[in-house]
Amino acid sequence: MAIDSDSDMDDAGLRSKKSKGKAAEKKRDKGKAKETAETLAYTWEASYTRSWDTVQEDESGSLQGAVEDWVVRARRKRLLAPSAAIRRTIIRHLVLLLDLSSAMVDRDMRPTRFDLMLQYAREFIVEWFDQNPLGQIGVVGMRAGVGERICEMTGNPQDVLKSISERHRLEPQGEPSLQNAIEMARSSMSHLPTHSSREIVLIFGSLTTCDPGDIHDTLDTCVRQKIRVSVVALAAEMKICREFCDRTGGQFGVALNEGHFRDILFELVPPPAQRGGGGSGTVGGAGGAPSADLMMMGFPTRLPDTAPPSLCACHGELRSAGFLCPRCMSKVCDVPTDCDVCGMMIVSSPHLARSYHHLFPVRPYAAMGTADRGARVACYACARAFPTAPAGNTSEGMSPVGRYRCPECKCDFCSECDVFIHDVVHACPGCGR
Ligand SMILES: [Zn+2]
Ligand SMILES: [Zn+2]
Ligand SMILES: [Zn+2]
Ligand SMILES: [Zn+2]
Repeated sequence: MAIDSDSDMDDAGLRSKKSKGKAAEKKRDKGKAKETAETLAYTWEASYTRSWDTVQEDESGSLQGAVEDWVVRARRKRLLAPSAAIRRTIIRHLVLLLDLSSAMVDRDMRPTRFDLMLQYAREFIVEWFDQNPLGQIGVVGMRAGVGERICEMTGNPQDVLKSISERHRLEPQGEPSLQNAIEMARSSMSHLPTHSSREIVLIFGSLTTCDPGDIHDTLDTCVRQKIRVSVVALAAEMKICREFCDRTGGQFGVALNEGHFRDILFELVPPPAQRGGGGSGTVGGAGGAPSADLMMMGFPTRLPDTAPPSLCACHGELRSAGFLCPRCMSKVCDVPTDCDVCGMMIVSSPHLARSYHHLFPVRPYAAMGTADRGARVACYACARAFPTAPAGNTSEGMSPVGRYRCPECKCDFCSECDVFIHDVVHACPGCGR
């Protein structure tokens, strides 16, 4: 019971002011050795934390250690990810279900669950659209026993962000209704074609739900319509939530604390691997997976800002800038979208290219134990020289000589470039793969 002993220690620390500093220090040393999320107590068990204690300086007063911890975590996560190409859905449709019930005013997450949820939801939406430029998001709220449509399904991140930017319009109130909200989310996705994914991400702070009917019927319908439900619970595990995730192939997680909440929410950003692959594991491999079907897409013509103003098909407003549908030549304001007139999917080619990297990720680089004889003295990407003397103590997954090698082209990269290449560039500068 590591968690219990931790909280006992904290209690003792609170009671006597003198020993508080020591207790915190002990805990900090312990926490540094392992992953943060695993060793930290539940938020409701922990005593107050001083934010300046969570960032650690080393002996020389630099923040290198804290940065390294973060890098190691990202690297380890990457190594766990499957390196072979798998079939993923790149045209995604997601409904973000936000719990706006009175349980969200709880202060066990700072400042409140509600404020934290809004903040993370915003970050999630930005990151999600960055990684899934062909996707669309809708937002549904749950409060006062009903589901409330906050934002229609749209491919424009600004529209989604705007819909949840006004805090006072979303003020928590009443009981949540899981069934009503999921039915509403489901109905907004029922018209979607089969090649796109249908997902519901639920951020749920309540421990109750008041439903008008049998929620298991809703669950059955979700399974039938292949809607993937993932839940991020803020309080505790509820059986019905777990059942939704298990039966629809979604992910379930209970947030231990603020950082963990963010981690499990952001795990839902990359597109899910398609189910029922039959173990073939390759793109286009048949093996029980739905055979690859072709879909029609159009690349629009972009109108310059100086073009004569004309009415757009989506809002009916007079504007200069916009995109012309290549099939019916009607004008739309934003891509990606479905043409309002002829229904064709309009995407820009950079969007399509950016979605590609999920299918063929850059293979993780190996952390080198020692520098080889005759190896390059500088990072292949940024040309900064590698350290000549090996670092003393480095955590697992870090290279003591600061070199990370691409398994394909055998080029060495520095730690910063490694992270940048895998998280942002999505192509190895050495081999172009
Ligand atoms: Zn418009
Ligand atoms: Zn059209
Ligand atoms: Zn570099
Ligand atoms: Zn390479």
